Amino acid sequence: MDVDNIECVSSSDGMEDEEIHSQMTHQFPSKPNNNNMGLTPATSVHELLECPVCTNSMYPPIHQCHNGHTLCSTCKTRVQNRCPTCRQELGDIRCLALEKVAESLELPCRYFSSGCPEIFPYYSKLKHEALCNFRPYNCPYAGSECSVTGDIPFVVTHLRDDHKVDMHTGYTFNHRYVKSNPREVENATWMLTVFHCFGKYFCLHFEAFQLGMAPVYMAFLRFMGDEADARNYSYSLEVGANGRKLTWEGTPRSIRDSHRKVRDSHDGLIIQRNMALFFSGGDRKELKLRVTGKIWKEQQNPEAGVCIPNLCS
Ligand SMILES: [Zn+2]
Ligand SMILES: [Zn+2]
Ligand SMILES: [Zn+2]
Ligand SMILES: [Zn+2]
Repeated sequence: MDVDNIECVSSSDGMEDEEIHSQMTHQFPSKPNNNNMGLTPATSVHELLECPVCTNSMYPPIHQCHNGHTLCSTCKTRVQNRCPTCRQELGDIRCLALEKVAESLELPCRYFSSGCPEIFPYYSKLKHEALCNFRPYNCPYAGSECSVTGDIPFVVTHLRDDHKVDMHTGYTFNHRYVKSNPREVENATWMLTVFHCFGKYFCLHFEAFQLGMAPVYMAFLRFMGDEADARNYSYSLEVGANGRKLTWEGTPRSIRDSHRKVRDSHDGLIIQRNMALFFSGGDRKELKLRVTGKIWKEQQNPEAGVCIPNLCS
């Protein structure tokens, strides 16, 4: 639930806060400032708009008890009609004044310190932040509940140091996936390899899973960046042996799309297990797949609508 904690908190209450918050406070678009206690008015209003139970920002309907304690609508459904602050009966009172105050606020995007210059009315800020291009990326490592987030250089370092992911430089690759007991298809990630080319990073996923009744292997590439940028690249994958081969050509998906989402949309090279074992040769007791691939930059990007300035790099 910590990712739901979308709002910044005051950095002027003496507690050490992360940099993103304190910078935002300093760069706050100044409104008439009658602060005499070291708090900017907007910051304290901001605190008022934080639900005391879940600490998320509150959006209409904002509820209050008879004593004026406020509560977000999600928490209201959970507290069984008792104010969590004073334990009095909650009733059904809207805090219209606070809703109106929120409406009048304009706040910088919480990813201000990551480079987002946008300022939003309170009620549209959240919507923007969910899609903001400067929001941190989730760790693309699949098959684990990794909650690490950060910008691309940070996530790359994390993959290398914490997940011990293989890192390669270059836009072509030739990988062998070997597994001794191919009859066991567990719903698990097998392998993630990171490629660095064109100044960008790409994740090559290879894994086994059950597609309907059929055990399959799937390989696909994800781009470590946002979706618009991902469309500037294409990739191909090829697997085969004995005079047969399967090829896949596609556009890498952004790591904004979860690994699972890409897998479930079958947006990659899918190899039926029987075919995979055929490609492996031998006695079909061992999976030995050689996957070759290539990443390249597209010359033109008609979907983006704008010229991408670094075509020649
Ligand atoms: Zn709440
Ligand atoms: Zn109360
Ligand atoms: Zn933003
Ligand atoms: Zn991770």
